[in-house]
Amino acid sequence: MSSSSSIRKLAFLLGDQLDMNYLDSLGLDQDQDLICMSEVADASENPPSHVQRTVLFLSAMRHFAEQLKDDGWNVSYTTLTDQDNTQNFENKLERYINDSNPEEVVMIEPGSHSVIESIERACESCGVDLDMIEDPHFLCTHDEFNEWASGRKQLTMEYFYREQRKKHDILMDDGEPEGGEWNYDKQNRKSFKSEPDAPDVPRFKPDKVTKSVLKDIQSELPDLPGNSDGFGWAVTREQALECLDDFVSNRLPRFGDYQDAMWSGKSSLYHSLLAPALNLKLLNPREVCQAAVDAYESGDAPINAVEGFIRQIIGWREFIRGVYWFEDTDYADRNELEQYGSLPEFYWDAETDMACIKDAISSVINHAYGHHIERLMITGNFALIAGVEPQQVDAWYRGMYADAIDWVTTPNTIGMAMHADGGVVGTKPYAASGNYVKKMSNHCKGCRFDVKKKVGEDACPFNTFYWDFLIRNEKRFKENHRMSLILKHLDKFSKDDRVELTVHAQELRDEMGIGEIDKD
Ligand code: SF4
Repeated sequence: MSSSSSIRKLAFLLGDQLDMNYLDSLGLDQDQDLICMSEVADASENPPSHVQRTVLFLSAMRHFAEQLKDDGWNVSYTTLTDQDNTQNFENKLERYINDSNPEEVVMIEPGSHSVIESIERACESCGVDLDMIEDPHFLCTHDEFNEWASGRKQLTMEYFYREQRKKHDILMDDGEPEGGEWNYDKQNRKSFKSEPDAPDVPRFKPDKVTKSVLKDIQSELPDLPGNSDGFGWAVTREQALECLDDFVSNRLPRFGDYQDAMWSGKSSLYHSLLAPALNLKLLNPREVCQAAVDAYESGDAPINAVEGFIRQIIGWREFIRGVYWFEDTDYADRNELEQYGSLPEFYWDAETDMACIKDAISSVINHAYGHHIERLMITGNFALIAGVEPQQVDAWYRGMYADAIDWVTTPNTIGMAMHADGGVVGTKPYAASGNYVKKMSNHCKGCRFDVKKKVGEDACPFNTFYWDFLIRNEKRFKENHRMSLILKHLDKFSKDDRVELTVHAQELRDEMGIGEIDKD
Protein backbone atom coordinates (compact mmCIF):
# COMPACT_ATOMS: atom_id res chain seq x y z
CA MET A 1 0.00 0.00 0.00
CA SER A 2 1.49 3.36 -0.92
CA SER A 3 1.63 6.41 1.37
CA SER A 4 -0.71 8.24 -1.02
CA SER A 5 -3.59 5.88 -0.21
CA SER A 6 -6.27 7.26 2.07
CA ILE A 7 -6.69 5.03 5.05
CA ARG A 8 -8.98 6.40 7.71
CA LYS A 9 -8.20 4.05 10.60
CA LEU A 10 -5.30 1.68 10.95
CA ALA A 11 -6.38 -0.99 13.44
CA PHE A 12 -3.41 -2.83 14.94
CA LEU A 13 -4.67 -6.18 16.28
CA LEU A 14 -2.49 -8.31 18.54
CA GLY A 15 -2.31 -12.09 18.93
CA ASP A 16 -4.45 -12.03 22.05
CA GLN A 17 -7.16 -9.89 20.46
CA LEU A 18 -8.87 -12.43 18.24
CA ASP A 19 -12.51 -11.49 18.70
CA MET A 20 -14.54 -10.39 15.66
CA ASN A 21 -16.61 -8.16 17.96
CA TYR A 22 -13.59 -5.91 18.36
CA LEU A 23 -14.16 -4.63 14.82
CA ASP A 24 -17.38 -3.00 15.98
CA SER A 25 -15.78 -1.83 19.21
CA LEU A 26 -13.15 -0.02 17.14
CA GLY A 27 -15.74 1.41 14.77
CA LEU A 28 -14.10 -0.12 11.72
CA ASP A 29 -15.41 0.17 8.21
CA GLN A 30 -14.45 -2.21 5.42
CA ASP A 31 -14.25 0.53 2.78
CA GLN A 32 -12.03 2.96 4.64
CA ASP A 33 -9.98 1.09 7.21
CA LEU A 34 -6.99 -1.24 7.31
CA ILE A 35 -6.43 -4.05 9.82
CA CYS A 36 -2.77 -4.80 10.50
CA MET A 37 -1.53 -7.93 12.24
CA SER A 38 2.02 -8.94 12.74
CA GLU A 39 4.06 -11.83 14.06
CA VAL A 40 7.05 -10.48 15.95
CA ALA A 41 9.99 -12.56 17.11
CA ASP A 42 10.47 -10.33 20.14
CA ALA A 43 7.17 -11.55 21.63
CA SER A 44 8.55 -15.10 21.62
CA GLU A 45 12.09 -14.30 22.68
CA ASN A 46 11.61 -11.89 25.60
CA PRO A 47 11.05 -13.88 27.72
CA PRO A 48 11.70 -17.15 25.87
CA SER A 49 8.29 -18.51 24.95
CA HIS A 50 7.37 -22.18 24.89
CA VAL A 51 7.21 -23.37 21.29
CA GLN A 52 3.57 -24.49 21.75
CA ARG A 53 2.61 -21.10 23.17
CA THR A 54 4.18 -19.47 20.11
CA VAL A 55 2.48 -21.90 17.71
CA LEU A 56 -0.84 -21.27 19.42
CA PHE A 57 -0.63 -17.49 19.09
CA LEU A 58 0.64 -17.47 15.52
CA SER A 59 -1.68 -20.16 14.21
CA ALA A 60 -4.69 -18.52 15.85
CA MET A 61 -3.62 -15.18 14.36
CA ARG A 62 -3.24 -16.62 10.86
CA HIS A 63 -6.63 -18.32 11.07
CA PHE A 64 -8.20 -15.10 12.29
CA ALA A 65 -6.59 -13.06 9.52
CA GLU A 66 -7.85 -15.55 6.92
CA GLN A 67 -11.35 -15.18 8.30
CA LEU A 68 -11.07 -11.39 8.17
CA LYS A 69 -9.98 -11.51 4.54
CA ASP A 70 -12.77 -13.96 3.68
CA ASP A 71 -15.21 -11.52 5.26
CA GLY A 72 -13.97 -8.77 2.97
CA TRP A 73 -11.66 -6.79 5.26
CA ASN A 74 -8.55 -5.05 4.07
CA VAL A 75 -5.83 -6.88 6.04
CA SER A 76 -2.10 -6.45 6.08
CA TYR A 77 -0.42 -9.42 7.77
CA THR A 78 3.27 -10.04 8.22
CA THR A 79 4.67 -13.40 9.23
CA LEU A 80 7.87 -14.29 11.05
CA THR A 81 9.54 -14.99 7.73
CA ASP A 82 8.88 -11.54 6.23
CA GLN A 83 12.41 -10.20 6.33
CA ASP A 84 11.92 -6.53 7.10
CA ASN A 85 14.10 -6.30 10.18
CA THR A 86 11.23 -5.09 12.28
CA GLN A 87 10.86 -7.76 14.87
CA ASN A 88 9.13 -5.85 17.65
CA PHE A 89 5.72 -4.20 17.96
CA GLU A 90 7.08 -0.66 17.88
CA ASN A 91 8.98 -1.04 14.63
CA LYS A 92 6.22 -3.05 13.00
CA LEU A 93 3.63 -0.42 13.76
CA GLU A 94 5.91 2.39 12.60
CA ARG A 95 6.32 0.55 9.34
CA TYR A 96 2.59 0.05 8.91
CA ILE A 97 1.95 3.72 9.64
CA ASN A 98 4.60 4.87 7.20
CA ASP A 99 3.32 2.51 4.50
CA SER A 100 -0.38 3.35 4.81
CA ASN A 101 -0.39 6.92 6.17
CA PRO A 102 -3.61 6.56 8.20
CA GLU A 103 -5.57 9.40 9.76
CA GLU A 104 -5.34 7.60 13.11
CA VAL A 105 -4.31 4.34 14.74
CA VAL A 106 -6.97 2.49 16.72
CA MET A 107 -6.37 -0.36 19.12
CA ILE A 108 -7.85 -2.47 21.84
CA GLU A 109 -5.75 -1.85 24.94
CA PRO A 110 -2.95 -4.46 25.01
CA GLY A 111 -2.61 -6.61 28.14
CA SER A 112 0.90 -5.48 28.95
CA HIS A 113 2.40 -2.18 30.12
CA SER A 114 5.47 -2.63 27.95
CA VAL A 115 3.45 -3.27 24.77
CA ILE A 116 1.33 -0.17 25.42
CA GLU A 117 4.47 1.89 25.83
CA SER A 118 5.91 0.62 22.56
CA ILE A 119 2.65 1.35 20.69
CA GLU A 120 2.57 4.87 22.11
CA ARG A 121 6.19 5.45 21.14
CA ALA A 122 5.52 4.28 17.58
CA CYS A 123 2.54 6.60 17.14
CA GLU A 124 4.38 9.50 18.67
CA SER A 125 7.44 9.07 16.49
CA CYS A 126 5.19 8.92 13.39
CA GLY A 127 3.11 11.89 14.53
CA VAL A 128 -0.20 10.04 14.24
CA ASP A 129 -3.10 10.03 16.72
CA LEU A 130 -3.68 6.89 18.74
CA ASP A 131 -7.09 5.88 20.02
CA MET A 132 -6.66 2.97 22.45
CA ILE A 133 -9.93 1.72 23.89
CA GLU A 134 -10.42 -0.39 26.98
CA ASP A 135 -10.83 -4.10 26.27
CA PRO A 136 -14.58 -4.88 26.29
CA HIS A 137 -13.83 -8.58 26.72
CA PHE A 138 -13.65 -8.17 30.48
CA LEU A 139 -16.63 -7.82 32.79
CA CYS A 140 -15.07 -5.30 35.16
CA THR A 141 -13.85 -1.98 33.78
CA HIS A 142 -10.74 -0.20 35.07
CA ASP A 143 -12.94 2.49 36.65
CA GLU A 144 -15.08 -0.09 38.43
CA PHE A 145 -12.08 -1.93 39.78
CA ASN A 146 -10.29 1.24 40.83
CA GLU A 147 -13.38 2.44 42.63
CA TRP A 148 -13.69 -0.90 44.43
CA ALA A 149 -9.98 -1.10 45.30
CA SER A 150 -9.26 2.51 46.24
CA GLY A 151 -8.93 3.09 49.96
CA ARG A 152 -8.99 -0.62 50.87
CA LYS A 153 -6.21 -1.81 53.13
CA GLN A 154 -6.33 -5.23 51.58
CA LEU A 155 -7.60 -6.33 48.18
CA THR A 156 -9.52 -9.49 48.97
CA MET A 157 -10.67 -11.44 45.93
CA GLU A 158 -13.62 -13.00 47.74
CA TYR A 159 -15.29 -9.60 48.36
CA PHE A 160 -14.62 -8.49 44.81
CA TYR A 161 -16.09 -11.74 43.53
CA ARG A 162 -19.31 -11.36 45.52
CA GLU A 163 -19.84 -7.92 44.07
CA GLN A 164 -19.31 -9.28 40.58
CA ARG A 165 -21.82 -12.07 41.21
CA LYS A 166 -24.43 -9.54 42.33
CA LYS A 167 -23.67 -7.01 39.63
CA HIS A 168 -23.90 -9.52 36.80
CA ASP A 169 -26.61 -11.57 38.45
CA ILE A 170 -24.70 -14.82 38.08
CA LEU A 171 -25.69 -17.74 40.36
CA MET A 172 -27.95 -15.45 42.38
CA ASP A 173 -31.34 -16.32 43.78
CA ASP A 174 -33.46 -13.35 44.75
CA GLY A 175 -30.45 -11.34 45.92
CA GLU A 176 -28.89 -14.30 47.75
CA PRO A 177 -26.16 -16.63 46.51
CA GLU A 178 -27.50 -19.72 44.78
CA GLY A 179 -27.63 -22.63 47.22
CA GLY A 180 -27.15 -20.33 50.21
CA GLU A 181 -23.32 -20.05 50.13
CA TRP A 182 -21.01 -17.74 48.23
CA ASN A 183 -18.25 -20.29 48.15
CA TYR A 184 -18.26 -24.11 48.25
CA ASP A 185 -14.52 -24.67 48.57
CA LYS A 186 -14.94 -26.84 51.65
CA GLN A 187 -16.33 -29.49 49.29
CA ASN A 188 -13.61 -28.89 46.71
CA ARG A 189 -10.53 -30.35 48.33
CA LYS A 190 -10.83 -34.05 47.59
CA SER A 191 -7.81 -36.08 46.56
CA PHE A 192 -7.81 -39.25 44.47
CA LYS A 193 -7.58 -42.60 46.26
CA SER A 194 -6.68 -44.42 43.05
CA GLU A 195 -5.83 -43.49 39.50
CA PRO A 196 -8.55 -41.15 38.19
CA ASP A 197 -10.29 -41.95 34.92
CA ALA A 198 -10.80 -38.36 33.85
CA PRO A 199 -11.79 -38.08 30.17
CA ASP A 200 -9.24 -36.87 27.64
CA VAL A 201 -9.42 -33.25 26.61
CA PRO A 202 -10.06 -32.39 22.93
CA ARG A 203 -6.88 -31.95 20.94
CA PHE A 204 -6.79 -30.70 17.36
CA LYS A 205 -4.33 -32.10 14.85
CA PRO A 206 -2.28 -29.37 13.17
CA ASP A 207 -3.99 -28.27 9.95
CA LYS A 208 -2.29 -26.62 6.98
CA VAL A 209 -2.05 -23.27 8.73
CA THR A 210 -0.62 -24.69 11.95
CA LYS A 211 1.86 -26.77 9.97
CA SER A 212 3.07 -23.65 8.17
CA VAL A 213 3.54 -21.93 11.55
CA LEU A 214 5.51 -24.90 12.87
CA LYS A 215 7.75 -24.74 9.79
CA ASP A 216 8.34 -21.00 10.15
CA ILE A 217 9.16 -21.35 13.83
CA GLN A 218 11.62 -24.09 13.05
CA SER A 219 13.47 -21.81 10.67
CA GLU A 220 13.13 -18.45 12.47
CA LEU A 221 12.97 -19.37 16.16
CA PRO A 222 14.67 -22.77 16.41
CA ASP A 223 15.76 -22.42 20.03
CA LEU A 224 12.44 -21.91 21.76
CA PRO A 225 11.97 -24.03 24.88
CA GLY A 226 9.46 -26.84 25.17
CA ASN A 227 8.32 -29.68 23.00
CA SER A 228 6.20 -29.01 19.91
CA ASP A 229 5.18 -32.67 19.37
CA GLY A 230 1.55 -33.32 20.02
CA PHE A 231 0.47 -29.68 19.68
CA GLY A 232 -3.30 -29.75 19.90
CA TRP A 233 -4.56 -26.43 21.28
CA ALA A 234 -7.68 -24.85 19.82
CA VAL A 235 -6.64 -22.23 17.27
CA THR A 236 -10.05 -21.12 15.99
CA ARG A 237 -13.24 -19.98 17.64
CA GLU A 238 -15.04 -23.09 16.41
CA GLN A 239 -12.47 -25.33 18.07
CA ALA A 240 -12.61 -23.23 21.25
CA LEU A 241 -16.38 -23.62 21.37
CA GLU A 242 -15.94 -27.38 20.99
CA CYS A 243 -13.57 -27.33 23.99
CA LEU A 244 -16.10 -25.35 26.03
CA ASP A 245 -18.85 -27.80 25.20
CA ASP A 246 -16.63 -30.77 25.98
CA PHE A 247 -15.59 -29.35 29.35
CA VAL A 248 -19.12 -28.53 30.44
CA SER A 249 -20.43 -31.94 29.39
CA ASN A 250 -17.58 -34.17 30.50
CA ARG A 251 -15.45 -32.57 33.20
CA LEU A 252 -17.30 -29.71 34.88
CA PRO A 253 -19.47 -32.03 37.03
CA ARG A 254 -16.38 -33.26 38.89
CA PHE A 255 -14.27 -30.12 38.52
CA GLY A 256 -15.22 -28.82 41.97
CA ASP A 257 -14.50 -31.97 43.94
CA TYR A 258 -11.03 -32.49 42.50
CA GLN A 259 -9.89 -29.02 41.54
CA ASP A 260 -6.93 -29.12 43.98
CA ALA A 261 -5.97 -32.76 43.41
CA MET A 262 -2.95 -33.98 41.47
CA TRP A 263 -1.99 -37.30 39.93
CA SER A 264 1.27 -38.14 38.19
CA GLY A 265 1.12 -38.12 34.41
CA LYS A 266 -2.34 -36.53 34.47
CA SER A 267 -2.36 -32.80 34.39
CA SER A 268 -5.70 -32.01 32.82
CA LEU A 269 -7.90 -34.16 35.13
CA TYR A 270 -11.26 -32.33 35.42
CA HIS A 271 -9.88 -28.87 34.57
CA SER A 272 -11.29 -26.78 31.75
CA LEU A 273 -8.04 -25.91 29.89
CA LEU A 274 -10.01 -22.97 28.50
CA ALA A 275 -7.63 -20.24 29.64
CA PRO A 276 -5.61 -20.15 26.39
CA ALA A 277 -8.79 -19.70 24.31
CA LEU A 278 -10.16 -17.14 26.76
CA ASN A 279 -6.94 -15.17 26.90
CA LEU A 280 -6.62 -15.07 23.11
CA LYS A 281 -10.27 -13.90 23.16
CA LEU A 282 -11.49 -16.81 21.06
CA LEU A 283 -14.00 -17.28 23.87
CA ASN A 284 -15.86 -14.66 25.87
CA PRO A 285 -16.14 -15.03 29.65
CA ARG A 286 -19.89 -14.30 29.49
CA GLU A 287 -20.62 -17.27 27.23
CA VAL A 288 -18.33 -19.50 29.27
CA CYS A 289 -20.16 -18.60 32.50
CA GLN A 290 -23.53 -19.01 30.81
CA ALA A 291 -22.62 -22.53 29.66
CA ALA A 292 -21.66 -23.48 33.24
CA VAL A 293 -24.81 -21.93 34.71
CA ASP A 294 -26.95 -23.74 32.11
CA ALA A 295 -25.35 -27.04 33.19
CA TYR A 296 -26.23 -26.27 36.81
CA GLU A 297 -29.80 -25.25 35.99
CA SER A 298 -30.40 -28.37 33.95
CA GLY A 299 -29.07 -30.53 36.78
CA ASP A 300 -25.99 -31.65 34.84
CA ALA A 301 -23.41 -30.15 37.19
CA PRO A 302 -23.51 -29.58 40.96
CA ILE A 303 -23.32 -26.19 42.61
CA ASN A 304 -19.85 -26.73 44.13
CA ALA A 305 -18.39 -27.37 40.67
CA VAL A 306 -20.22 -24.56 38.90
CA GLU A 307 -19.63 -21.99 41.64
CA GLY A 308 -15.93 -22.92 41.82
CA PHE A 309 -15.56 -22.55 38.07
CA ILE A 310 -17.50 -19.28 37.88
CA ARG A 311 -15.30 -17.91 40.68
CA GLN A 312 -12.22 -18.62 38.55
CA ILE A 313 -13.70 -16.68 35.64
CA ILE A 314 -15.51 -13.66 37.09
CA GLY A 315 -13.67 -13.68 40.41
CA TRP A 316 -10.04 -14.54 40.18
CA ARG A 317 -9.45 -13.75 36.48
CA GLU A 318 -11.07 -10.32 36.66
CA PHE A 319 -9.54 -9.59 40.06
CA ILE A 320 -6.01 -10.38 38.99
CA ARG A 321 -6.43 -8.24 35.88
CA GLY A 322 -7.71 -5.40 38.05
CA VAL A 323 -4.62 -5.69 40.24
CA TYR A 324 -2.32 -5.56 37.21
CA TRP A 325 -3.72 -2.21 36.09
CA PHE A 326 -4.44 -0.79 39.56
CA GLU A 327 -0.92 -1.26 40.88
CA ASP A 328 2.01 0.87 39.71
CA THR A 329 4.04 -0.28 36.75
CA ASP A 330 6.86 -1.26 39.14
CA TYR A 331 4.69 -4.17 40.34
CA ALA A 332 6.62 -6.71 38.23
CA ASP A 333 9.90 -5.62 39.86
CA ARG A 334 8.80 -6.14 43.45
CA ASN A 335 10.78 -8.47 45.66
CA GLU A 336 9.42 -7.90 49.13
CA LEU A 337 11.00 -11.03 50.59
CA GLU A 338 14.39 -10.05 49.13
CA GLN A 339 15.15 -13.36 47.42
CA TYR A 340 17.77 -13.41 44.71
CA GLY A 341 18.43 -17.11 44.05
CA SER A 342 18.68 -18.37 40.44
CA LEU A 343 15.96 -20.41 38.76
CA PRO A 344 17.25 -24.00 38.71
CA GLU A 345 18.02 -25.59 35.37
CA PHE A 346 15.40 -28.30 35.96
CA TYR A 347 12.66 -25.73 35.31
CA TRP A 348 13.74 -26.02 31.67
CA ASP A 349 14.38 -29.77 31.34
CA ALA A 350 12.57 -31.47 34.28
CA GLU A 351 15.83 -33.28 35.14
CA THR A 352 15.32 -33.74 38.87
CA ASP A 353 14.68 -36.59 41.29
CA MET A 354 11.83 -34.71 42.94
CA ALA A 355 8.86 -36.65 41.56
CA CYS A 356 6.33 -33.84 42.02
CA ILE A 357 8.51 -31.22 40.32
CA LYS A 358 9.49 -33.62 37.55
CA ASP A 359 5.85 -34.38 36.81
CA ALA A 360 4.65 -30.76 36.92
CA ILE A 361 7.50 -29.46 34.76
CA SER A 362 7.26 -32.36 32.29
CA SER A 363 3.63 -31.36 31.70
CA VAL A 364 4.74 -27.79 31.04
CA ILE A 365 7.50 -28.88 28.65
CA ASN A 366 5.21 -31.29 26.76
CA HIS A 367 1.95 -29.35 26.77
CA ALA A 368 2.70 -25.75 27.87
CA TYR A 369 0.20 -26.50 30.59
CA GLY A 370 -0.16 -27.18 34.29
CA HIS A 371 -3.29 -26.78 36.35
CA HIS A 372 -3.58 -24.11 39.00
CA ILE A 373 -2.44 -26.23 41.94
CA GLU A 374 0.59 -27.53 40.07
CA ARG A 375 1.46 -23.92 39.32
CA LEU A 376 0.81 -22.57 42.79
CA MET A 377 1.78 -25.43 45.09
CA ILE A 378 4.47 -27.27 43.12
CA THR A 379 6.46 -25.02 40.77
CA GLY A 380 5.48 -21.75 42.50
CA ASN A 381 5.74 -23.01 46.06
CA PHE A 382 9.11 -24.59 45.39
CA ALA A 383 10.56 -21.39 43.90
CA LEU A 384 9.16 -19.38 46.81
CA ILE A 385 10.52 -21.50 49.64
CA ALA A 386 13.83 -22.24 47.88
CA GLY A 387 14.51 -18.50 47.57
CA VAL A 388 14.41 -17.92 43.80
CA GLU A 389 14.22 -14.34 42.55
CA PRO A 390 10.57 -13.55 41.70
CA GLN A 391 11.44 -11.86 38.39
CA GLN A 392 13.14 -15.02 37.11
CA VAL A 393 10.11 -17.04 38.11
CA ASP A 394 7.78 -14.52 36.46
CA ALA A 395 9.76 -14.68 33.22
CA TRP A 396 9.51 -18.48 33.26
CA TYR A 397 5.75 -18.46 33.84
CA ARG A 398 5.18 -15.75 31.20
CA GLY A 399 7.01 -17.81 28.63
CA MET A 400 6.16 -21.39 29.42
CA TYR A 401 2.36 -21.59 29.69
CA ALA A 402 0.03 -21.48 26.70
CA ASP A 403 -2.28 -19.02 28.48
CA ALA A 404 0.45 -16.68 29.72
CA ILE A 405 0.04 -12.94 29.14
CA ASP A 406 1.44 -10.20 31.39
CA TRP A 407 -1.87 -8.99 32.86
CA VAL A 408 -2.71 -12.44 34.20
CA THR A 409 0.67 -14.06 34.73
CA THR A 410 2.60 -11.32 36.51
CA PRO A 411 0.18 -10.72 39.42
CA ASN A 412 -0.35 -14.48 39.76
CA THR A 413 3.41 -15.01 39.97
CA ILE A 414 4.72 -11.92 41.75
CA GLY A 415 1.73 -11.68 44.07
CA MET A 416 0.11 -15.07 44.52
CA ALA A 417 2.98 -17.52 44.08
CA MET A 418 6.00 -15.53 45.22
CA HIS A 419 4.40 -13.21 47.80
CA ALA A 420 6.74 -10.55 46.44
CA ASP A 421 4.18 -7.73 46.25
CA GLY A 422 4.04 -7.09 49.98
CA GLY A 423 0.69 -8.80 50.44
CA VAL A 424 -1.41 -7.04 47.79
CA VAL A 425 -2.80 -10.26 46.32
CA GLY A 426 -2.46 -12.67 49.24
CA THR A 427 -2.49 -12.00 52.95
CA LYS A 428 0.00 -14.79 53.56
CA PRO A 429 2.51 -16.70 51.44
CA TYR A 430 1.39 -19.94 49.80
CA ALA A 431 4.29 -21.84 51.33
CA ALA A 432 3.88 -25.54 52.02
CA SER A 433 5.99 -28.52 52.97
CA GLY A 434 5.99 -31.95 51.34
CA ASN A 435 3.04 -32.86 53.51
CA TYR A 436 0.69 -30.86 51.27
CA VAL A 437 1.99 -32.65 48.17
CA LYS A 438 1.56 -36.01 49.90
CA LYS A 439 -2.02 -35.18 50.88
CA MET A 440 -3.11 -33.97 47.45
CA SER A 441 -1.25 -36.32 45.09
CA ASN A 442 0.41 -39.70 44.58
CA HIS A 443 3.79 -38.13 43.80
CA CYS A 444 5.53 -38.94 47.08
CA LYS A 445 4.98 -42.69 46.69
CA GLY A 446 7.27 -42.84 43.69
CA CYS A 447 9.85 -40.34 44.89
CA ARG A 448 13.41 -41.06 45.98
CA PHE A 449 13.04 -38.48 48.76
CA ASP A 450 11.37 -39.20 52.08
CA VAL A 451 8.46 -36.86 52.64
CA LYS A 452 8.71 -37.38 56.40
CA LYS A 453 12.28 -36.06 56.66
CA LYS A 454 13.49 -32.47 56.90
CA VAL A 455 17.25 -32.92 56.80
CA GLY A 456 19.64 -35.47 55.38
CA GLU A 457 20.53 -36.80 51.96
CA ASP A 458 17.08 -38.33 51.36
CA ALA A 459 15.03 -35.61 53.06
CA CYS A 460 12.24 -34.10 50.97
CA PRO A 461 13.59 -30.76 49.68
CA PHE A 462 10.15 -29.21 50.11
CA ASN A 463 10.47 -29.86 53.84
CA THR A 464 14.00 -28.50 54.13
CA PHE A 465 13.15 -25.37 52.19
CA TYR A 466 9.82 -24.87 53.92
CA TRP A 467 11.33 -24.73 57.40
CA ASP A 468 14.30 -22.74 56.18
CA PHE A 469 11.85 -20.28 54.59
CA LEU A 470 10.03 -19.82 57.89
CA ILE A 471 13.29 -19.42 59.81
CA ARG A 472 14.58 -16.88 57.27
CA ASN A 473 11.38 -14.85 57.40
CA GLU A 474 10.42 -15.35 61.03
CA LYS A 475 10.83 -11.70 62.00
CA ARG A 476 9.09 -10.46 58.88
CA PHE A 477 6.04 -12.72 59.33
CA LYS A 478 5.71 -12.12 63.09
CA GLU A 479 3.46 -9.14 62.40
CA ASN A 480 1.16 -11.22 60.20
CA HIS A 481 -1.56 -12.73 62.37
CA ARG A 482 -2.35 -15.34 59.69
CA MET A 483 1.20 -16.67 60.11
CA SER A 484 1.33 -16.79 63.89
CA LEU A 485 0.04 -20.36 64.25
CA ILE A 486 2.43 -21.58 61.59
CA LEU A 487 5.40 -19.78 63.15
CA LYS A 488 4.55 -21.37 66.51
CA HIS A 489 5.87 -24.65 65.10
CA LEU A 490 9.32 -23.10 65.03
CA ASP A 491 9.29 -23.02 68.83
CA LYS A 492 9.90 -26.76 68.75
CA PHE A 493 13.20 -26.23 66.95
CA SER A 494 16.38 -25.97 69.04
CA LYS A 495 19.16 -23.65 68.00
CA ASP A 496 21.06 -26.65 66.64
CA ASP A 497 18.00 -27.79 64.68
CA ARG A 498 17.77 -24.39 63.07
CA VAL A 499 21.45 -24.34 62.15
CA GLU A 500 21.23 -27.85 60.72
CA LEU A 501 18.23 -26.88 58.57
CA THR A 502 19.76 -23.64 57.39
CA VAL A 503 23.02 -25.35 56.46
CA HIS A 504 21.24 -28.20 54.64
CA ALA A 505 19.01 -25.76 52.76
CA GLN A 506 22.05 -23.87 51.49
CA GLU A 507 23.76 -27.12 50.48
CA LEU A 508 20.65 -28.01 48.48
CA ARG A 509 20.52 -24.58 46.90
CA ASP A 510 24.14 -24.91 45.82
CA GLU A 511 23.53 -28.39 44.46
CA MET A 512 20.50 -27.21 42.46
CA GLY A 513 22.24 -24.13 41.09
CA ILE A 514 20.04 -21.71 43.04
CA GLY A 515 23.05 -20.34 44.89
CA GLU A 516 22.83 -17.63 47.52
CA ILE A 517 19.55 -15.92 48.28
CA ASP A 518 21.10 -12.62 49.30
CA LYS A 519 22.07 -10.11 46.68
CA ASP A 520 25.72 -9.77 47.65
FE1 SF4 B 1 7.85 -33.90 46.12
FE2 SF4 B 1 9.01 -34.31 48.50
FE3 SF4 B 1 6.94 -35.76 47.77
FE4 SF4 B 1 9.28 -36.10 46.58
S1 SF4 B 1 8.81 -36.50 48.69
S2 SF4 B 1 7.28 -35.98 45.59
S3 SF4 B 1 10.06 -34.00 46.54
S4 SF4 B 1 6.96 -33.57 48.10
